Amino acid sequence: MAHPLYVWLRKRIRLDIFNITCGDSHLGQLLKDLLRQYKYIVGFIIALNCIAALFEGSTMGALLLALDVLLGEKTGPAQDSLRIVQSFLVTIEERFGRGGIFAFYVGLAVLSQLLRSGFQFFGRAATAYLQAWCERDLRSRVFRQFFSIRYDHVVKYKIGDMALYTHQTNGMVNYLGYLNSLVSDFLILVTYICVLLWISWPITLLAVVTLGLLSLGLSRVIRVVRTAATEFVKATVRMNEQIVEYLQGIRTVRAFAQEEHVQGLVDETLREAMLANRKSLVWEATILPLVECLTVLCVAGLLVLCYVLLDVNGEAWLPRLAVYVFVVYRLMPRAGTINSNLAALKRLYPTVSRVAAILRQDNKPYMRDGGRDIRSLQDGIEFRNVTFRYDGTATPAVRDLSFFIPRGTMTAIVGESGAGKSTVLDLILRLYDPTAGVILADGIPLPEYDQKAWRNLIGMVNQDIHIFNASIHQNIAFRRPDADREEVERAARIANAHEFILELPNGYDTVVGERGMRLSGGQRQRIAIARAVLHDAPILILDEATSELDSNIERKIQESIARLSLDRTIIAVAHRLSTISMADQILVLESGRLVEQGTHSELLGLNGIYAGLWRIQSQSEEKVRK
Ligand code: ATP
Repeated sequence: MAHPLYVWLRKRIRLDIFNITCGDSHLGQLLKDLLRQYKYIVGFIIALNCIAALFEGSTMGALLLALDVLLGEKTGPAQDSLRIVQSFLVTIEERFGRGGIFAFYVGLAVLSQLLRSGFQFFGRAATAYLQAWCERDLRSRVFRQFFSIRYDHVVKYKIGDMALYTHQTNGMVNYLGYLNSLVSDFLILVTYICVLLWISWPITLLAVVTLGLLSLGLSRVIRVVRTAATEFVKATVRMNEQIVEYLQGIRTVRAFAQEEHVQGLVDETLREAMLANRKSLVWEATILPLVECLTVLCVAGLLVLCYVLLDVNGEAWLPRLAVYVFVVYRLMPRAGTINSNLAALKRLYPTVSRVAAILRQDNKPYMRDGGRDIRSLQDGIEFRNVTFRYDGTATPAVRDLSFFIPRGTMTAIVGESGAGKSTVLDLILRLYDPTAGVILADGIPLPEYDQKAWRNLIGMVNQDIHIFNASIHQNIAFRRPDADREEVERAARIANAHEFILELPNGYDTVVGERGMRLSGGQRQRIAIARAVLHDAPILILDEATSELDSNIERKIQESIARLSLDRTIIAVAHRLSTISMADQILVLESGRLVEQGTHSELLGLNGIYAGLWRIQSQSEEKVRK
């Protein structure tokens, strides 16, 4: 069994030093990954830091020897050094006298210091390179993570939170910077301690123990910094989520005159974030002055100690004492910086553990990717006893669905709101996998296919159309960025969008979306249809694709799509039944179950739910016409 002292020490060291880097095993793993990825530059930085520390030590040694010479003590390390150094020093003394030796040591100290600064600069420059690379990589990894995690899981993250994750990667970059300073300061500290041990080991041991105790005392302050920083990060997450949510809903907020209320909510979260941030920064700010005060006390204590213990040799100890105090004076701010770097690491800890947490893969669901290639649909899509329940809901959104969608036909899905129509489409897209049952394409379960290859077969126009902040041309060519203007125009004509696009200030080059021109609902739908037409996928999913268009344009688009789609498999969801009456088969859903199936005339003949819906819609359309 390990000795209790060993266990105590291990625990302390783990808490106070390694906990900063590896206390959270996932953060430790992430750091290890980064170190492995950039092992050469990390090795280079450590080597530069070591060399800089050695030169710092040689500066101190040279100063000590220079002072020795000044006081006529000796000509440096002549007695116990290498013969070559000895004969070199003798030659200098013979040619230039003691002044020459003194000048040599001072020159050596200056040169060592210049070299130290040079190596320190290169170390910092290499660290800056490392930080820039890490920032790029981490942002990219976080971004990729959101596109890899299973869809039902990723939609649970709020947009503001996701944006914050990508932004917080720079916390990780600062973290690496502080870690580097910590290592370089630690190396220099070790060098100083070696020099001090060389001058007087009993006093130095005493000083090291005092320093250690002071650091333990400071670790309490550092712990407060970390707690406050965790509160700050939590408040920042809330604040970001709120701000993004209210900005996205700016139209609704204004329409309902809720500006003051929303401002109040955001201000409250801002206040919480400010209080936590202030607390962590104030506590962090106490560390350096505290260490500086302790420095003065330590130096005073050491002077007294030196006077009491070392006065035995009188003047001979003066240069050593001078160098000793000089080294201690240089050492103490380093110890201060180490402590304030530890505090900064603690402050950043909640931020970087969030980055490490989002990059964790073992606790997140991913879609199984079978890797099987698929270039076209040969036979059709089959639902076999498919049931699907959303996470956290009690009842399934669709249950025990079995039907077949033959290739090259049009299948319409109808039903009341909430019946499960969009869920069926999402299952075909493989945004979700069924809770029970299986969906097959050409007789093979969807999870066996390569996800990307399967989705490449599908073109989609849905209710939630996203127009990117880019030109009309780029928006239409989203799935085929290589498409030329002629192809884009052809797709726009089929989608009945060409005329309105030509009326825009810069035609196809007009920037639309968030920062550009705003488009009407119907115009957005036509851009989305053109996008799907250009993609020219063998399976076309239309989820309320023409709901925002007037009947005249809707009819024209339907004719164009019908012309396009001789060999295309179309799956359409529509509330206006007149738009899908020509479908090869119509599936009627009710509370997630398939209750009727057939062509328009077959379903009218059944005189069931579909016939009822059809009658209601025909009557209301008749009334509108009258
Ligand atoms: P609509 O015509 O109004 O678009 P729909 O027929 O397309 O409706 P779905 O959107 O498929 O219906 O929803 C089916 C059921 O699943 C509904 O009860 C809905 O509340 C539920 N549902 C949909 N999306 C989610 C989700 N992300 N999490 C939990 N439940 C959901």
